[in-house]
Amino acid sequence: MTYQKSFFTLTSKSFFFFIFLILSCIKQKINKDFRTDHLIIIGVDALSPNGVINADTPVMDELMNNGSYTLNARGVLPTSSSTNWASMVSGAGPEQHGITSNGWERDEHTLPAVVQGEEGIFPTIFNVARKQRPELEMGAIYTWSGFGRLIERSLLDYDSNEKSDELTVEKAINYIKKKTPNFLFIHLDEVDHVGHSLGHKTSHFYDAVAHIDQQIGKIIQSTKEAGIYDKTTFIISADHGGIGYGHGGETLDEIEIPFIIFGKGIKKNYLIRNQVYIYDNAATAALLLGLNQPQAWIGRPVKTAFIGITEPEFHDQKIRIPAPTIYPKANLYDLAGGLYIDQKAEVLMESRGDAKIRYTTDGSIPTQNSQLYSGKFLLSKSTVVMAKAFKGANQESKVSKAYYRMINSTSNNGIRYHYYESKKDMNFLPNFLEMKAVKSGKTYQFRIDSINQVKHQFGIQFSSSIKINSKGEYHFYLLSDDGSRLYINNTLVVDNDGGHGAIERKGSISLQPGFHKITLDYHNQQGGAWLDAFYKGPGIPKQIIPPQILFLIE
Ligand SMILES: [Zn+2]
Repeated sequence: MTYQKSFFTLTSKSFFFFIFLILSCIKQKINKDFRTDHLIIIGVDALSPNGVINADTPVMDELMNNGSYTLNARGVLPTSSSTNWASMVSGAGPEQHGITSNGWERDEHTLPAVVQGEEGIFPTIFNVARKQRPELEMGAIYTWSGFGRLIERSLLDYDSNEKSDELTVEKAINYIKKKTPNFLFIHLDEVDHVGHSLGHKTSHFYDAVAHIDQQIGKIIQSTKEAGIYDKTTFIISADHGGIGYGHGGETLDEIEIPFIIFGKGIKKNYLIRNQVYIYDNAATAALLLGLNQPQAWIGRPVKTAFIGITEPEFHDQKIRIPAPTIYPKANLYDLAGGLYIDQKAEVLMESRGDAKIRYTTDGSIPTQNSQLYSGKFLLSKSTVVMAKAFKGANQESKVSKAYYRMINSTSNNGIRYHYYESKKDMNFLPNFLEMKAVKSGKTYQFRIDSINQVKHQFGIQFSSSIKINSKGEYHFYLLSDDGSRLYINNTLVVDNDGGHGAIERKGSISLQPGFHKITLDYHNQQGGAWLDAFYKGPGIPKQIIPPQILFLIE
């Protein structure tokens, strides 16, 4: 009995050991399958999904058609460059790596990294790669010098900061041909410059994206010439998007980024449905290089992009498909829709593939039962159009919104504005009473448009009379970069003052029917500039304060 028992224990032990061996072999095999000989990550500063969709990008389109991608990857807050580049290379958010703003320096910051590795900074992919696979040939080439302080340059075989993207690409090509690196990180900056100087969602911006696309094409071509193309995995991603002339705020336009992965073992023409975060870049790089990621990282490798790995079930989650485009589409300061003087608006919508578009005009979120879009239609009064794409029972997009504002030129509608400039730092709203206006005029909307004559240190004071039809609680919203304040009858309703990116603040007030004085103060310190004012009231969906309820006061 005793003998038998111990015999049984022995065999079961061996049995489990045998199973363990098989499992670990399988595990090892899978890990090896993920491994690539060469990894090239190309990070394009400020490359928004909107840029990829609207610009002429044959190279990136090809990578998406022959690889896996999502245009809904997400960066971290704040949407500034240092914070997001650090997250991309270090598999963590600002809460972990401590780089919470562009002002961060190695010897000057408030939040220490949770762990400090080589060079006293939070361990990036370069550190992890050097420790675990010292034999790897590894380099980083970047146009923005600030990128250099975010990584352990002393661990690189090749480290170079170039003055322009052309030079960065040239250096990268030479390095690829000469050393066939196992891991190369390339940072390109020109798209961000154009976003800042000529505006996001403009034809200039799309031209810059198209130009970068050609540069990416050259890099890929060089791997062919170096004979490593078939053994190279490419990742194209970005640090953030942009709004108006800047970024750093809390809008979707700024935080959404593309993530494109292409190479051997990667699914072809595959839309990644899992959520991808910016810090997943480093985790994916670790997987591709056969590294164990540090415990302090929070990124996860984007495994579902790999052949043989199925996407997990989406239990309570709809599968996200691209949102419909509503025309006229957004352009720099213009949100989709637009201002129509003495004319009707034509609403045209478009969805990708065979998705159906359903829409509402009452400010409610479209559902499977909402009006089906079957062709363009006309609007004769100010309307908020919301649309969603649907495919089957389980696939839907996020909401696209367009604001159509209609106005009659013979009406007394309008807003007076006074425009100011300052030599002093306009970090907060100045006392406009003590300043002399550079120019004054009439406009229809609480927007910057082309009122400003300089990019930095300017302010605008708007005043008008808002007509309220029914009594009740009204909500006002200011989305601004930098600060703004809204007053009704000289009472402060929304306070969004201070130097910051595009963030929205809200306030409420009870109003009686009739006319009420409305004043909006705005200032821009430096960087991007943005202003939009919305309201919402009883039976009135949230929308841009429509110009037909704003009247000139004498
Ligand atoms: Zn920037």
